[in-house]
Amino acid sequence: MGEKITQNSDNSLNVPDHPIIPFIEGDGIGPDIWKATKRVIDSAVETAYGGKRGIDWLEVNAGEKGFERTGEWLPDETLSSIEEHVAAIKGPMTTPVGKGIRSLNVAIRQRLDLYACVRPVRYIEPVPSPMSHPQKVDMVVFRENTEDLYAGIEFEAGTEAAKGLIRYLKEQMGASLDPESGIGIKPISARNTKRLVARAIQYAIDHSLPSVTLMHKGNIMKFTEGAFRTWGYEAAREQFPDQTISEDELWDEYDGVQPEGKVLIKDRIADMLFQQVLLRPDEYHVIATPNLNGDYLSDALAAQVGGLGMAPGANIGDRCAVFEATHGTAPKYAGLDKVNPSSLILSGAMMLDFMNWGEAATLVRGGISAAIKAGRVTYDLARQMPGATEVKCSEYGDAIIEKMKTT
Ligand code: NAD
Repeated sequence: MGEKITQNSDNSLNVPDHPIIPFIEGDGIGPDIWKATKRVIDSAVETAYGGKRGIDWLEVNAGEKGFERTGEWLPDETLSSIEEHVAAIKGPMTTPVGKGIRSLNVAIRQRLDLYACVRPVRYIEPVPSPMSHPQKVDMVVFRENTEDLYAGIEFEAGTEAAKGLIRYLKEQMGASLDPESGIGIKPISARNTKRLVARAIQYAIDHSLPSVTLMHKGNIMKFTEGAFRTWGYEAAREQFPDQTISEDELWDEYDGVQPEGKVLIKDRIADMLFQQVLLRPDEYHVIATPNLNGDYLSDALAAQVGGLGMAPGANIGDRCAVFEATHGTAPKYAGLDKVNPSSLILSGAMMLDFMNWGEAATLVRGGISAAIKAGRVTYDLARQMPGATEVKCSEYGDAIIEKMKTT
């Protein structure tokens, strides 16, 4: 009989040996990749803990499949179940077009206040990569998940609201805008910035990583992106005074030699950081960024290590976390048992880490690497790997399980 995971006031978890974990299979390719993922995760847990531990999966409704069953795209019970059980995992979901919902994923993040979108970008040998030294890419992006672009405040060009705002901006600020412009609002707050940056710093401390980089465009947008930078440094000083140092302190007090046990907090302008992650990826470990920069950066980084099919993700808040595939429903491959399930499987490994079941997470990553090394891969990787054998989604899952048990 499964039990609920519970959370203590300091955010640490009490994970029973048989936790109940809600899952949303998802739409399109969701059922195929979920089937493979569930088998791999169950097998990793079984192999790591010899039957002492196991996950009690609980299906919850959302997306197209949820709508067919309940008449709702995102039932309230689904959200309360995720919150009650602390951790959940989901496949991709179809976004209903013209149904008054902008995106189900954004709705889940906002309703559960999952303020950090966490995307680890780690190279798994021998996945094809456009980089000369892809093994140097090992970063985790913490993207703010509730404001900036995601606040979604826009005024359509030509509407009274847009024109009124343009008039106001002219009167109050002397801004001379084309009266037919569309307008978007970019809110960034101290509260949301600080909790995101604090989570990124805590991650660096927990994983003994040397640096956290604040990515921003503060040279141009001083009161939003620039403020993100200022508040990020403040969060480090206020909440981690003994565990962090700035680059100024590094040079003024330590002559450029990073002291043991301290996380270096640095900041980089967004466009420059895009170059740096290509040219000097090993200098970046954890990156904390506002929403829009993070959107661009996490997909660009995913391309460096094998594309979206290989990139895991999680949305984490103070009350619960949802682990998810980073790609969409790829409708043209739905039901063909063809696509790469690695994104969802690796998100499952992140969930195992979150639960402090690191032994099982390590087995999953090792199994994926060994299956890929053996050249038994899905079509997306096979077409880039000379000599590889293309296998179905389920067969790739079999290969991972076999490798986990034998290596
Ligand atoms: P998509 O990610 O579904 O697919 C684009 C292409 O990427 C596919 O045609 C395929 O060639 C490739 N691809 C995607 N996942 C793959 C995998 N696991 N293995 C191999 N190849 C893979 O993006 P899209 O076509 O823009 O969106 C389709 C639907 O998905 C839309 O309804 C969209 O709203 C939704 N969507 C959902 C999520 C989510 O639930 N997190 C994210 C993005 C898009």
